Amino acid sequence: MIASYAASVETSRGRQYVEPSPTYRTEYQRDRDRIIHSTGFRRLEYKTQVFVNHEGDLYRTRLTHSIEVAQIARSIARTLGLNEDLTEAIALAHDLGHTPFGHAGQDALNACMKPYGGFEHNLQSLRVVDHLENKYAEFQGLNLTFETREGVLKHCALKNAQMLGDVGQRFIDKTQPSLEAQLTNIADQVAYNNHDIDDGIRSGLISIEQLREVRLFAEYYDQVKWKYPDLDDNKSVHETIRQMIGSQVTDLIQTSQQNITAAGVVTIDDVRAQNETLIRFSDEMFAQSRLMKKFLRENLYFHHQVYRMTRKAHQITEALFDAFINDAKLLPPEHQAYASKAKKSESEADYARVVADYVAGMTDRFAIKEYDRLFNMSNQLL
Ligand code: MG
Repeated sequence: MIASYAASVETSRGRQYVEPSPTYRTEYQRDRDRIIHSTGFRRLEYKTQVFVNHEGDLYRTRLTHSIEVAQIARSIARTLGLNEDLTEAIALAHDLGHTPFGHAGQDALNACMKPYGGFEHNLQSLRVVDHLENKYAEFQGLNLTFETREGVLKHCALKNAQMLGDVGQRFIDKTQPSLEAQLTNIADQVAYNNHDIDDGIRSGLISIEQLREVRLFAEYYDQVKWKYPDLDDNKSVHETIRQMIGSQVTDLIQTSQQNITAAGVVTIDDVRAQNETLIRFSDEMFAQSRLMKKFLRENLYFHHQVYRMTRKAHQITEALFDAFINDAKLLPPEHQAYASKAKKSESEADYARVVADYVAGMTDRFAIKEYDRLFNMSNQLL
């Protein structure tokens, strides 16, 4: 049973290109299925979350991260009476626009694209589903519903919002997206905060002792140790993380339910008209989760070893962009065709966007190979 304020097929703003309704699925299930069958989705397997793909087989990748986000978001959606299919579709698509090498790749590409309007992974996720996935006979992109596209576009600068039409409008009007979109955004943070602790400890870059400085971790870790004094480190960390996820999910459900009741929203339009989002942590949990993020930023994302890899990722991304922007003939034939179309429009920015799309679409290992093929004379492969 879904709540009256949930997104529903009946109140959907539909697809850009009108299609007959699916016969055995809902519209949002169809969105999810198109996302799963896209090439962008398969590439997530070989894109960095924090650790570059070749650093180890057990670390999260963008793909396993997206699946974890979908799991957490769906559980909460079901409890709050929200649309689970839409929630899942947004979660699986939310990182499709990520470059190779995670945030290092995004920062490097953004710097390269500065003269041409910049590069933002969130906006790129929308571009992937709207334009770059191109295999349907009747339309460009995946032709997803408005609600899935709205959820994918989590944030957006005002200057970009003005060029995006329907999904950009809320950033201009300062209104809210659906509860499903709000939920997926926070489920993303719950997922990465917790799995980055797990990956961080596995890598040896952060220790249990260090983490005990963070209250959220210390509280549950100490409880686990009190209950099972002889438990080994692996199991202790896992038990702590599962309880942290549980406490954040419970807090999110309770606080959001109270907010929804207090706001008196009845329909999705009421949700959109609110001044603030309704899916939220309590102030206390918000503060604790911020402290955890700060800890991870200082001790893991900026760790010396991660930083060295980040530096290499910057160099590869910049070098690839520079090579292609200066010489279109280096691009694969298919991308040269896009490039010549862009050149005809005589806008340097359009051509730069073709290059950015190509570089952003690369997986970590493809970017490393491409760099080697282009710049290493002893590499015989073209
Ligand atoms: Mg994410």
